[in-house]
Amino acid sequence: MAVMRLGYVHARVTDLDASRSHYAQTLGMRVVHEGDGRLYLKSWDEWDHHSVVLEEGGVGLVKLGYKVDSPADLDVFERRAERFGCTTKRMSRGDNLAVGDGVRIVLPSEHVVELYHEIEFTGTETGTLNPAPFPRHLVGVGVPRIDHALITAEEPALLERFFAECLDFRPAERLITDHSKEELIGSWMFCGNSPHDIAFIKGPNSKLHHFAYQLEDWNAIRHAGDLFAMDDVSVDIGPTRHGITRGQTIYFFDPSGNRNEVFSGGYTTFPDFPTITWTADQLATGIFYIGREVNERFTSVLT
Ligand code: FE
Repeated sequence: MAVMRLGYVHARVTDLDASRSHYAQTLGMRVVHEGDGRLYLKSWDEWDHHSVVLEEGGVGLVKLGYKVDSPADLDVFERRAERFGCTTKRMSRGDNLAVGDGVRIVLPSEHVVELYHEIEFTGTETGTLNPAPFPRHLVGVGVPRIDHALITAEEPALLERFFAECLDFRPAERLITDHSKEELIGSWMFCGNSPHDIAFIKGPNSKLHHFAYQLEDWNAIRHAGDLFAMDDVSVDIGPTRHGITRGQTIYFFDPSGNRNEVFSGGYTTFPDFPTITWTADQLATGIFYIGREVNERFTSVLT
């Protein structure tokens, strides 16, 4: 029984056509459906129907979808979330395009998470039989898959407790004030084997800091950076490397101002690994290892 992975990010955008250009032409996702003011997109190495939904009207996060192991998991996670004090609601097949029954949970941070087991399976572009390592005619960055999201929460400790107690996530890394107080500022939590499937830092409830795509390596990050310059994408910071997760990164903005990230590297983790701790005096090194400086925009711009 487990949550397997982040399956979809559903975000709001101010302009669907500008978003199409960014997500499909620059990032290279494929539009698999559109209608009712929404675009559904997937990346070339994703099996399920879609991984990103863009909805016209505003900015920020509508919800995150996490896929669970089995239908029975939904009952268990629903009960635990209710016991924790969260509002939950059952969702039915068809509430979300291509997605089956599930449970919608309002987190202690007021973000909405949907747990589901079934989503239409459409396969990757290279398939399961003697697959090529990548499709020949990728567009733009050609992102292979989404990876994680980082959200903000007024009470990070409460949110960490929710993900640990209700959904069996574990913290790979934690950022605390200092060893005397140990107040939690941020947590990078995983359900799979990567250092984070969800992360959150202290900030206003219900806000999105960024969602990220996984790229193959540092060269792919640099190549993405070149394409961002060619396409006049607004870059927040990078390319650089994180202390936390050890990943390599560029942060950038979609045309509506939602922050995206391309991320590579990061270690493989397992449930028995101890949690890594960062103290606030080392925050800048933890976030951006090489420059050791966090720009004002990075902490203040949320959608
Ligand atoms: Fe990230």
